[in-house]
Amino acid sequence: VEEPIHEAVLGGAAERGDAPALVDGVDGTTLTYAQVDGFHRRLAAAFAEAGLRKGDVLALHSPNTIAFPVVFYGATRAGASVTTVHPLATAEEFAKQLRDSSARWIVTVSPLLETARQAAGLAGGVREIFVCDQAAGHRSMADLLGSTAPEPQVDIDPAEDVAALPYSSGTTGVPKGVMLTHRSIATNLAQLFPAMPMGPDDRILAVLPFFHIYGLTALMNAPLRQGATVVVLPRFDLDTFLGAVQEHRITGLYVAPPIVLALAKHPAVAEYDLSSLKYILCSAAPLDAALAAACSARLGLPPVGQAYGMTELSPGTHVVPLDAENPPPGTVGKLVAGTEMRIVSLDDPDKDLGVGEHGEIVVRGPQVMKGYLGRPDATAAMIDPDGWLHTGDVGHVDEDGWLFVVDRVKELIKYKGFQVAPAELEALLLTHPGIADAAVIGSYNEDNNEVPHAFVVRQPSAADLSANEVMLYVAERVAPYKRVRIVTFIDAVPRAVSGKILRRELRGLS
Ligand code: ATP
Ligand code: MG
Repeated sequence: VEEPIHEAVLGGAAERGDAPALVDGVDGTTLTYAQVDGFHRRLAAAFAEAGLRKGDVLALHSPNTIAFPVVFYGATRAGASVTTVHPLATAEEFAKQLRDSSARWIVTVSPLLETARQAAGLAGGVREIFVCDQAAGHRSMADLLGSTAPEPQVDIDPAEDVAALPYSSGTTGVPKGVMLTHRSIATNLAQLFPAMPMGPDDRILAVLPFFHIYGLTALMNAPLRQGATVVVLPRFDLDTFLGAVQEHRITGLYVAPPIVLALAKHPAVAEYDLSSLKYILCSAAPLDAALAAACSARLGLPPVGQAYGMTELSPGTHVVPLDAENPPPGTVGKLVAGTEMRIVSLDDPDKDLGVGEHGEIVVRGPQVMKGYLGRPDATAAMIDPDGWLHTGDVGHVDEDGWLFVVDRVKELIKYKGFQVAPAELEALLLTHPGIADAAVIGSYNEDNNEVPHAFVVRQPSAADLSANEVMLYVAERVAPYKRVRIVTFIDAVPRAVSGKILRRELRGLS
């Protein structure tokens, strides 16, 4: 795709006129497609007038709002690379990202302004902070939209110019700035999202954050390109979420595993009318097949689909198409067009494995990132000279090409020479009626052997569930080397917004 991302997504927006593009899920404020088109062009003009030049980095620091996409495309149209910032980042974390990305501009919202100011003070180099709503001493969206400056004519090279600079989630190390060009994002949009066609009658709920690459693409780029309506929620809260599905007659959900878990198990689900839903797609972390089946059965929906990817892949290589006939339970999908994959031995990366064999997933295609910003060594460690990206994930393919993801290479527990995937044990633990949530890591026992260690959140009704009962439940269902050998009860599993278990934090608890 040889168009800048704002063209690829909003090229057809003007013709869609009064059709609703973005709806605030809390107060109902609506932006039409014509408004999104006009506003993002006005913003581009105002940003250029303020001094923003091609190649500048703009930090977008906001929870999900209907203004978020307008700012994003306005900034890219002005030639900026947009680095999205976690709205809960501390001033120090935000400052690190500003420094690392050399950001010169910030767009924030008034409740986060103080953090943004502190971060800009710590980092230095920021020319102006704009505020989407209103705050004294700062230009607002309304001010910018009032600009009469001409629309800038910026010459964008889609293959080279960075449109988005999201930071990886930092699940396994420090978050790294991921350079995604206009071409990599727009191409991946064309590769991945035809698998989940949407139209003007579709209403998509943006409950996962736009700042993460999953939200940015599945909840923003894909529906806006196809003329669907995006209903925006600022944060996840089960009742608000279920209420929004009911009230806005949501047709498609793009979620992460904790939401599938809630939909499958939480009693509140029964109190809402969710009959408008046509499908659910889940990504970002391992989803157990039994849990997925329980969710779709409870809601009377087709099997929960999955997609696989990572920030570095703009974000994806695999998806289960909506119209796939009988995808095998647990699959994350089939390889998208224009992409190659190999499964290589964990012991010898030069050795390719066959059908059914577990190894590292290695991929190549136009959606692979340009590199990590300012980290050539980290880039070279992930992408080899032939362009193959080593995902760090373990998986296998079946004879029909369906991919299954087991877990991350780094998180496999090595028990006496065997490898145990935490995700498999977590899924099994969740099938216990007394267990509300669970996470597994490798811990060292008194003999200095790494063993599976489960952190378990009891259901309120199962306050007397014991460690022995938990271990026995697992032991009856798995090969002996996979048995859970240590159990710790906790109040909540620490997770990132994307649903990823923060195993680092669990290590601190053990
Ligand atoms: P960091 O790289 O900074 O440690 P991260 O890898 O969690 O953070 P992301 O890019 O948000 O950052 O996540 C990508 C990872 O999410 C993949 O490498 C994979 O482990 C996991 N993942 C994504 N989709 C799936 C899926 N469908 N099933 C299982 N795991 C998935
Ligand atoms: Mg990663």
